Amino acid sequence: MADHPASPRRKRVVLLGATGSIGENTLRVLRAHADALELVGVAANGSAEKLLAIAREFRVPHLALFNERASAALRAAGPAALPPGARLHAPGVEGLEALATLPEADVVLVAVVGTAGLRPALAALAAGKDLALASKEILVLAGAHVLAAAKKSGARLLPVDSEHNAVFQCLQGHRHDELRRVILTASGGAFRDWPVERLAEATVADALKHPNWAMGPKITVDSATLANKGLELIEAAVLFDLRPAQCAAIIHPQSIVHCLVEFGDGAMLAQLCPPSMTFPIQHALLHPARGPRGTEPALPLDRLLSLEFRPADEGRFPMLRLAREAMERGGAAPAVYNAANEVAVAAFLAGRLPFLGIPRVTEATLAALAAAPAADLPAVLAADSEARNFAEKQIP
Ligand code: MG
Repeated sequence: MADHPASPRRKRVVLLGATGSIGENTLRVLRAHADALELVGVAANGSAEKLLAIAREFRVPHLALFNERASAALRAAGPAALPPGARLHAPGVEGLEALATLPEADVVLVAVVGTAGLRPALAALAAGKDLALASKEILVLAGAHVLAAAKKSGARLLPVDSEHNAVFQCLQGHRHDELRRVILTASGGAFRDWPVERLAEATVADALKHPNWAMGPKITVDSATLANKGLELIEAAVLFDLRPAQCAAIIHPQSIVHCLVEFGDGAMLAQLCPPSMTFPIQHALLHPARGPRGTEPALPLDRLLSLEFRPADEGRFPMLRLAREAMERGGAAPAVYNAANEVAVAAFLAGRLPFLGIPRVTEATLAALAAAPAADLPAVLAADSEARNFAEKQIP
């Protein structure tokens, strides 16, 4: 970094959630674009060692560990444990919020797992920071609040999820009233070619064999059930102000086309790039510039490149049907869907629930709680925790 003198033109980035797969890909983008991007704040969950390695490499002045114990241990090690000039902020949401609102920050990338990123995301927007959003839960639970916060301060909401980032790109320069529908592509996950009858025997190891993307276990299972696409449809409706009927999913095994956007005249625009998160992350961080290509090769068009599309079968993928139903129902239903799925996937990964138990638990939880009140954010968060309790009880 020393060979890149501080320049007012470099965008200052805060990264919340640095050690997951989005975080690691963000660091790759920061390395490749050190002339344009500067990391000024970084937070991880519990790994002090990884946090400190990042702080040293990128000379980051503001650090936080979410996990209380890990944060206390690092603090107890004394200032000498930190790189010169670095400061350790508070643990928990407080530290994430402090980083998200640093006066020098231009853009805050939120990639923390679950709902812990919600308050920091809202705080960043309220402080006028552009928000690059990778955590799906935030929009599923609090989409309206996030949009309102962005509108109020004039900050930009930049989707990092590959499909939404692709839609964002395709919509540039187009009128919303001419948009007919948005179609998100899905690889189809580990079981797209399995006979449906065999899904009952699917093991954790089977579910974790994702054909195209290397990601954490939760999202890899969500790709196998298509719950990930279900959450993304909900997310798309929020981000792009669409009715449920305007959001669709299609199976595209190659994961090269990330979305199709259809306009009133029947024309479609697509966005293509290799299945690597560095592309949407770079787009979000450098927006409105694109910058030069990072470290990844572009699509190899000198060899055969075939692109296939097939309908997403809701019989094979009941989590897709349940997401659509939750979206149509509205209110707390999307939050209930997300919470029940999260509990069921954790139980599946722990060997406590069969693969087909995931849609079963989600459907039962939705049937019981989809109509929970959702007037404001506390009500939605209450529905979220009620759904978690209910779902837990459905697991034998
Ligand atoms: Mg995605």
